[in-house]
Amino acid sequence: MKKIDIIALPGDGIGPEVTTVALNVLKAVCNRYHTELNVTELPFGGICYEQYGEPVTDEIIDACKKTKIVLLGAVGGPQWDDLNAGKRPEAALLRLRKELGVFANLRPIQVHPALAGASTLKQEVIEGTDFLIVRELTGGIYFGQPRYTSEENGDPFSVDTMRYSRSEVQRVARVAFDAARLRNGRVCSVDKANILESSRMWRKSVLEVAEEYPDVELTHMLVDNCAMQIIRDPKQFDVMVTGNLFGDILSDAASMLTGSLGMLPSASVGGENGLYEPVHGSAPDIAGKGVANPLAAVASAAMLCRYSLKMEEAAQNIEEAILKVLGSGLRTGDLYTNETGTILANTSDVADLLLKAVSEEETVS
Ligand code: NAD
Repeated sequence: MKKIDIIALPGDGIGPEVTTVALNVLKAVCNRYHTELNVTELPFGGICYEQYGEPVTDEIIDACKKTKIVLLGAVGGPQWDDLNAGKRPEAALLRLRKELGVFANLRPIQVHPALAGASTLKQEVIEGTDFLIVRELTGGIYFGQPRYTSEENGDPFSVDTMRYSRSEVQRVARVAFDAARLRNGRVCSVDKANILESSRMWRKSVLEVAEEYPDVELTHMLVDNCAMQIIRDPKQFDVMVTGNLFGDILSDAASMLTGSLGMLPSASVGGENGLYEPVHGSAPDIAGKGVANPLAAVASAAMLCRYSLKMEEAAQNIEEAILKVLGSGLRTGDLYTNETGTILANTSDVADLLLKAVSEEETVS
């Protein structure tokens, strides 16, 4: 039996509820592939602040860096909203991402057939949509220097700097090309190369990386056109790679194709490190009621299998289990629409069916 250590940071609100489900599914599926997961659960966010007076401690950060693979629930809640910025639960998240050096954020945008009616867009436009957005996470205009506010002739002005180096672009481009090899072999690089100097550097750097991947098809798209194409014809994309600012905006727009926040997983990777978390927050309004949708957390666990454990089949097993749950008609409150054939379910109903689905298959020899 192969043994793998991971850290779980369940966090606040519904974080622990959905993380428990994700861990149980992950352990069951790994077991089928003769892999034993050794999970260390640590406090993070508001709950850590209550225990240690800080949203994360140096020891917890060190443990995550040493283990390299982290599954996170969610952080935050109204009881911590008035703390100063450094003590707030969200500060722990920013520090963890920075310390792990996770420079690429991966967000799959997948419309499940059973949920195609839940989007605000027409079913025939979104049905079959399945692409991956790879967003550069630690550079670009969110971090570029100089940034300041000043005044000229009595008129205040502010400056932000969009800066990208070739190495920053190429390391995230390689993540996108590697991901495309696991999918349909197509990368679309999104920039604003008709206007921005930093985008011309982006495009040139991506073109150089493409030479290492002759089996992957590369296209380029301007970001304004891309925003339109995501709404007009989202099925055209396989893997999209883009900078921090453009990726922030495009990934939120694309997330609405899928209909619900409770369905969206994410992975942030850099070198050997991987941080896996659902896109949603701690949902304090439903925390402790046992009604949270655990599928985004479970899909994040599938990404952990794919990108950190390199267990592609195990990742697919988890994704198939999610499809089985949706196909059965079970819907947590966030997805339930009274549609014929659907049943209002709570977290444990979904968890039971997921576990049954991943355990039903034979152990892989
Ligand atoms: P949220 O994502 O927590 O909730 C928005 C709405 O979606 C709520 O009505 C909630 O009940 C619902 N929802 C979210 N996830 C769901 C799930 N899995 N199942 C069913 N319903 C779900 O966003 P918010 O309300 O803006 O923020 C709440 C707290 O979470 C805040 O403290 C915020 O700072 C924090 N937050 C944390 C993260 C993170 O940890 N990565 C991300 C976003 C927000």
